[in-house]
Amino acid sequence: MTKAGTQSVESLRCDLERLAKKLLATAAPLASAEGAGRDVLSAIERSLEAIADLQPRESPLCSEGGEPVEVLGIGEEHPPAWIVGPCMIESYEQISIVAEAAKAAGGRILRGGAFKTRTSPHSFQGPGEEGLVMLRRAADAQGMAVITEASGLGNLDIVAETCDAIQIGSRNAQSPELLDAAGRVAASLGKGVVVKRGFGCTVAEWISAAEYVAAHTDKIILCERGIRTFEPGTRFTLDVAAVPLARAVTRLPIIVDASHAAGKREMVAPLAAAGLAAGADGVMLEVHPSPEQAMSDNGQQIRADELNELIESVRRKLVRAASWNRPY
Ligand code: PEP
Ligand code: MN
Repeated sequence: MTKAGTQSVESLRCDLERLAKKLLATAAPLASAEGAGRDVLSAIERSLEAIADLQPRESPLCSEGGEPVEVLGIGEEHPPAWIVGPCMIESYEQISIVAEAAKAAGGRILRGGAFKTRTSPHSFQGPGEEGLVMLRRAADAQGMAVITEASGLGNLDIVAETCDAIQIGSRNAQSPELLDAAGRVAASLGKGVVVKRGFGCTVAEWISAAEYVAAHTDKIILCERGIRTFEPGTRFTLDVAAVPLARAVTRLPIIVDASHAAGKREMVAPLAAAGLAAGADGVMLEVHPSPEQAMSDNGQQIRADELNELIESVRRKLVRAASWNRPY
């Protein structure tokens, strides 16, 4: 529990105590000696005892009193991680081209959707189990880890068995049953869980989502992926402030998904740089051998043969940002 969290529980406790004492003072003169109203009085007295016992709840996500958590080599003590792969797995050839490019560019983690949470029921929902097999095979061929989404309870077990970290997507970010089950199965198999921020969720709601998982395991990666705002120039608004906000209350690794926030290729590198500058521990990127032909999100995916240059351009932006000479 952070200092701020402890303080707010304490001030809530004081408010409740004041209220209960006031109730007691009002109710006591009304209770008759014969017993009428006595049950109300004793209920208030019991509440006062319960209020006195109210303690800040220890959360496994707390930033104080624990080492920073590291998941799949992603964490504060490591160089930024690159989690790259296509939006959707379309063929073995497609995913293996991306895996090779990712490895060559320094990536250690391959992503790709087999079970997709599409906004429209009329869109293709992904190749399912067949895609998972391709993803695992392509990652193993390059010695990479795998992150992929479980879109519901129906595919959670097979996803958990195949991947190294189960992704919970933005559209499922407020699905307690799935979050709880993902934490449970991840803990039993020693896997991680990526908790994406719901695009309509506050940072506190995002952290609460992670707490469902944290009931079972602290191998959690938080992923800021953009929120819905009034700005139509990007697909979502990458909330860079969410990185330090989440950092202040958790010790979990935090990554940013630059692709889903940007919605367009040319915006991906600057958003990746902004996320890293804000303190993110890694970047998720969508990459495809020929994005124009991609079955989903074709406007935002980076060409596999341009990935290395994209990562290099992010590095150049950060070096430039750090290149001033003091004093001004
Ligand atoms: C994804 O990462 O494939 C995805 C669909 O992202 P989000 O859940 O953030 O929209
Ligand atoms: Mn996508």
